[in-house]
Amino acid sequence: MGNIREEGAHVRLNSAPPSRPDGGGASAEVLATVRRFWGFETLRALQAEAIRAGLDRRDSLVVMPTGGGKSLCYQVPPAVAGRTDIVISPLIALMKDQVDALRACGYPAVALHSGMDLAEVRRIENEIATRRPHLIFVAPERMLTARFLELAARIGAASFAIDEAHCISQWGHDFRPEYRQLAELKSRFEGASLHAYTATATERVRRDIVDQLKLADPAVLVGSFDRPNLVYRVIPKMSVNSQVEGVLRRHRGEAAIVYCISRRDTEQMAGYLAGVGLRAAHYHAGMDANDRRRTQDRFAAEEIDVVVATVAFGMGIDRSDIRCVIHAAMPKSIEHYQQETGRAGRDGLPAECVLFYSAADAMRWQSLLERSAAEAEVAADVADSGKLLLEEMRRYATVVGCRHAALSAYFGEKYADSNCGACDQCLGETEGIDDATVLAQKVLSCVARVEQRFGVEHVVDVLIGSDSERVRRWRHEQLSTYGLLKNLPRKQVTNLIYQLVDAALLERTGGERPVLRLNEESWQVMRGNRQVKLLRTKRPKTARTQIEETSWRDVDETLFESLRELRRAIAAERGVPAYVILHDSNLRDLARARPATLEALGAIRGMGEKKLADFGVRLLERIADYERNPPPAPSPARNPSAKP
Ligand code: ADP
Ligand code: ZN
Repeated sequence: MGNIREEGAHVRLNSAPPSRPDGGGASAEVLATVRRFWGFETLRALQAEAIRAGLDRRDSLVVMPTGGGKSLCYQVPPAVAGRTDIVISPLIALMKDQVDALRACGYPAVALHSGMDLAEVRRIENEIATRRPHLIFVAPERMLTARFLELAARIGAASFAIDEAHCISQWGHDFRPEYRQLAELKSRFEGASLHAYTATATERVRRDIVDQLKLADPAVLVGSFDRPNLVYRVIPKMSVNSQVEGVLRRHRGEAAIVYCISRRDTEQMAGYLAGVGLRAAHYHAGMDANDRRRTQDRFAAEEIDVVVATVAFGMGIDRSDIRCVIHAAMPKSIEHYQQETGRAGRDGLPAECVLFYSAADAMRWQSLLERSAAEAEVAADVADSGKLLLEEMRRYATVVGCRHAALSAYFGEKYADSNCGACDQCLGETEGIDDATVLAQKVLSCVARVEQRFGVEHVVDVLIGSDSERVRRWRHEQLSTYGLLKNLPRKQVTNLIYQLVDAALLERTGGERPVLRLNEESWQVMRGNRQVKLLRTKRPKTARTQIEETSWRDVDETLFESLRELRRAIAAERGVPAYVILHDSNLRDLARARPATLEALGAIRGMGEKKLADFGVRLLERIADYERNPPPAPSPARNPSAKP
């Protein structure tokens, strides 16, 4: 199959508005359904088109960033058409949360997964046959079992939504072999329509999905990948524990995820953070299922604020109020980065994404890839694609220019604004080092003096004039470059060297004992024929950015906290995560509008009929109480350091 852009109806919206007042051309019936169950007044860009494809039972591929609102696209059609559709979803936790959230809206849905015993499976199957829920969630491996195929045929299922469809592609960030079997759906269910959903947007992955699922004349709907509410920062990694702590202190009491590469790193980091008084726990695939579930549940119930995790954490996380995602180490592809940072700010409110970059992490991934290829854990072509993906990630981390623009470019979009106002570079938080060229010359000549036979650490030792055993053994204290940068801290000199490596002005060999080598560009610099640009991060800002400031405008922050507490209580009574009750954005709207009647409350976004009936009165009481006894002083800033 050729370029999918030429096939089907390809709609591309580059800087699509979050919603259109006309509901994007949706029918009155669709809008009434959306209002009844979810309390939304409008549809977002592309949702209307995706829902239309679902109602027309035309194959579709819908690509929207995380938080873009994909689930509504497959939830609405069966409710409007009175059908039972099937959703194939990769993770149990994800399914359970979705079903809980739908039921809280009064929307009938069930899930069948391997965590259930036979009696439970029978009960659900019975419920499917008698009550005909609008959606059945199943895992890919269960979909094609004889038992489930038979059930699906019996209820006349003819429309299948495939969530996280990139799992079918090795070019995605989460290839799952069991997804490959879904290629059989078209032949098993004649005339069935397939609707693939993903947040991974590269052309390669999209083409792969269309090919593998054998989509016929699909409507290809690709949303904009830019997440304007995310502030991206890349900071040179120095002492990562305290750097991570510093960022988290700006988000006290708010939800955050810290990603690390190894299991051990997560435990060590979580231990450190807990030790300095933050409510943090670790999460990785090596823990037993109960411990994992416990961490997830405590996070969902807002008993802890910070989860320190490997990539294993996330797919099941539906908490929409994550205000901060930190990468303590570089992820291995931009797809991973986009997916993981995408978990921040799904409620549309501002959130911060900080990547602590060190070239050493890139090397670490590189050698992991080489090792798994050598030990034949992955096929050679998968390892090769892995290397390319890694290189792109590294380029992103070291790019000098707008981060939003760089990410957009990677996903094949042109970024319109010249200043995003939401990345370290556009916010002016990085600055050039004045004497960069001279510094670079000092470093490079030191590499020349040690005859290009030593690694980063030793070159740093020589430059800062340290009295190490190795320096003495090689008599390097006698070199003219010894102590040339003795007024700079070790970490900064290390960082300078890596910046030179990233800019390809200096080479670092691979293998077990990497050494620094000069290249043609290095000599150009040393001869004074080439100017060098090096960056230094200014003291990190603690004030809110403009977009954060705007999101709090007119919100009574004390009332917001009080409503959060009420939400926590309601969620605990029902044994569901807090976000199933209401999102932070809904609470902020409440704390802004302070409705006094059920009618006014019903006009708040997110208050569908069932939620209004279930706990509308309690919300009104809480607001009324607050109005009667307002706090004595003006409401305190949530972020004390934000005020000068
Ligand atoms: P995705 O699956 O694409 O990551 P979700 O379907 O979870 O995104 O939706 C993200 C958030 O956006 C959810 O909080 C959802 O309630 C909200 N949302 C979706 N569609 C709309 C809409 N039309 N109006 C308002 N909020 C919406
Ligand atoms: Zn920018």
